[in-house]
Amino acid sequence: MTNNVGIPSRCWCWKGIVTYVSKMEENPYRRFFRSEIGLKRKKEQHLFKWVDEALLDVIQRMHEQQSRMAKEIEDLRSSLKTVEEAVIEHKKS
Ligand SMILES: [Zn+2]
Repeated sequence: MTNNVGIPSRCWCWKGIVTYVSKMEENPYRRFFRSEIGLKRKKEQHLFKWVDEALLDVIQRMHEQQSRMAKEIEDLRSSLKTVEEAVIEHKKS
């Protein structure tokens, strides 16, 4: 299958992805992504993903990205401080 991390954009069959609402007893009203032809051709392995799980993937990825950005800001602050200190030292001499 193609990239199915987060919100899926395509099935391997290149058909669009549609969201449906589950009518299964064990997952009533739970939304899911499905390849457009997946519902008709159940024997083939077309894309299926629960919407809530896809959204959790997205949140997880955003969280990781935010952590990386926070680290970058921290590094930049620390280099800025080094530059500021060098400027102060330079002005003194
Ligand atoms: Zn498909």
